[in-house]
Amino acid sequence: MENSPLSQRFTSRFVAGQTLKEGVRVLEALARERILGTLDFLGENVSSLEDAAHSKGAYLAAQADIEKANLPATVSIKLTQFGLDFSETVCCSNVAALLDRAREMNSKVEIDMESTAYTDRTLRIVTDFQENYFGHLRAVIQAYLFRSEADIRMLSSRRIPVRLCKGAYREPPNLAFARKQDVDANYLKLMKLLLQEGTYPAIASHDESIIRQAVEFVREQRISPDRFEFQMLYGIRRDLQRELVSQGYTLRLYVPYGDAWYPYFMRRLAERPANLLFLAKNLVRS
Ligand SMILES: Cc1cc2nc3c(=O)[nH]c(=O)nc-3n(C[C@H](O)[C@H](O)[C@H](O)COP(=O)(O)OP(=O)(O)OC[C@H]3O[C@@H](n4cnc5c(N)ncnc54)[C@H](O)[C@@H]3O)c2cc1C
Repeated sequence: MENSPLSQRFTSRFVAGQTLKEGVRVLEALARERILGTLDFLGENVSSLEDAAHSKGAYLAAQADIEKANLPATVSIKLTQFGLDFSETVCCSNVAALLDRAREMNSKVEIDMESTAYTDRTLRIVTDFQENYFGHLRAVIQAYLFRSEADIRMLSSRRIPVRLCKGAYREPPNLAFARKQDVDANYLKLMKLLLQEGTYPAIASHDESIIRQAVEFVREQRISPDRFEFQMLYGIRRDLQRELVSQGYTLRLYVPYGDAWYPYFMRRLAERPANLLFLAKNLVRS
């Protein structure tokens, strides 16, 4: 699937392209619309430390291009892409190379959250890094997990910025809310906690009701728009993206590029049944 020449046609809605150049081109177009970006070199659960070193190289090249083009962009990474399944030590040394560059560029490395098999290790690694790289990393918390309120309090006490998302993996009922309304209610509760007590949180959602309630809450509480940002995925709810920017809020888009698009694309399809129709139409056209 990933190598098929037809694939670009149906992935192009969610993926900037196969190359770094295409990813940077999207960031430049966004910057012209006053939208920030975070670049994601697609890939996760690499199958060797050699592949992990390749991910590190790809991300260092991405940071170099971001700096060269003077773009207001961060990078987003997955620890399994940096070798976490094989060696935590090697993984951390790979990530440290990116954090060193982020510090030089006065930027950030955003550490995505994967399935619950990795939650403890990811949070431990993030908190260990905080000591040396204060201000240059961001953690991610998933509102569907029961543990998330405690994790947010722990991260906030260390002044680690958090991106709050709903969560994109299939988790068992003893760890995560199964019903959408429970996930949404927990998201709202955690969002308010972060806006009041967190350090520059990122509200990452395309849920219109959640976004409206975030806007209402910050107005009510007189929380200044420079104390948080909204984040969305490239290609999703462009109408809402433009609306937030026109209202003066900071918005950052998650921009994936690369040829290892399959798991990312499948998560986007699974989130919304209507996307299957979109895929089917493109396959027929192909
Ligand atoms: C910037 C960013 C970073 C993220 N990082 C992580 C991470 O590190 N770990 C993780 O587990 N998850 C991550 N996610 C994914 C997140 O957990 C959700 O799976 C995803 O954002 C959908 O949730 P939602 O809040 O948009 O709400 P939903 O209730 O799923 O969707 C609300 C509305 O948004 C629109 N929408 C949502 N998804 C789609 C889609 N795929 N296609 C078309 N329309 C859609 C629809 O209009 C839908 O009605 C991230 C999301 C964002 C925005």
